[in-house]
Amino acid sequence: MASENYLKEWAEGFKKRIVSRVLEAGLEFTVENIPGIVREASFAVQSKKHPGDCPCYTSEPCHALVDLNCLLCNCPNYNANTRGANGEIQGSCRVDSSNGRYTEHPNLPAGRVWDCNGCPIFHSSEEVEKYLMEHLEDFKKIADKIKAEK
Ligand code: SF4
Repeated sequence: MASENYLKEWAEGFKKRIVSRVLEAGLEFTVENIPGIVREASFAVQSKKHPGDCPCYTSEPCHALVDLNCLLCNCPNYNANTRGANGEIQGSCRVDSSNGRYTEHPNLPAGRVWDCNGCPIFHSSEEVEKYLMEHLEDFKKIADKIKAEK
C-alpha cells in the first residue's frame, strides 16, 4: 500500500536508521560522546561502512559540503506535511531557505518536491554538533525506543 505521506515515512525511517548505526558503533547519546557521534554520522564514515543505507552513499553526495554529515539528513526545518495544489504531499522549508527549491518530476505525487540539495543548513558536522548539544534528549528518546524494540 502506498504511504500516506512518503516524505514523513522516509524521514522517520532514515532518522531511526542513522541513530541505530551510531548505537551499533558503541556510542550512547551522551554529552561526552557528541564528537564521536558526529564523526560516526559523517557521510565519509557512513558511506564506507553502510553503502546500502542510502542511494547517495554509492553515487554522489546529496550536498556539496566537505564535512557533510548525515545525522540531520532529515533537516529539522523540513516540513513534510505541506501539500500542493492537488492536495498531494510536496514538502516545504519552515525557514524558507533561499538555497532550497522545488524540483519537478511527473512521477511525484504532487508533481514536485521540496529539494534541499543546495542548502548547507544542518548538514555540516559543525552545525550537527551544535544541534546535538541542544537536542540530545530527542535523540536519546529515539535510541531508547530502538533498544526497547529489540
Ligand atoms: S532548505 Fe535548508 S533549512 Fe530548509 S529544510 Fe532544506 S536543508 Fe533545511
